[in-house]
Amino acid sequence: MKKAYKVRIGLDELVVPVGELDSVQLCVDCGRDGGVPQITIGGYNSIQSDRSMETKIWLIKELEVGDSFNFEFTESEEFTPPEKEEVEGPFEERCNFCGKSKKNVDVLLEGSAYIAVYICNSCVTDCSKKIIAERANRS
Ligand SMILES: [Zn+2]
Repeated sequence: MKKAYKVRIGLDELVVPVGELDSVQLCVDCGRDGGVPQITIGGYNSIQSDRSMETKIWLIKELEVGDSFNFEFTESEEFTPPEKEEVEGPFEERCNFCGKSKKNVDVLLEGSAYIAVYICNSCVTDCSKKIIAERANRS
């Protein structure tokens, strides 16, 4: 048996082995512009060679009224792999900035093959404006 973190949200259960990630993060946030509140379970691995951190997202789930979650430190042989295919059910590609799902935006861009992060076209526009404003503030 290996030590693990077990996270249960309604019927969804996720088992993350200790050692797979240096730290496990549970993040509950509410999307902007009337976005749906969601919980993200992921964590970080430090990569020794260049001391950078690799982010791994295991689950993103929209929260509904009455939802509660249970976080348990346990022992398990079975782990829920962080492969995207494995979380296809509850996992839906959505913008990590505003929380809108793929079907509710014009274009949804994916971050990289290792990190399940997305940004939509309106957030890119929004961010571009903020970058321009930020630069103007500095000078
Ligand atoms: Zn967005």
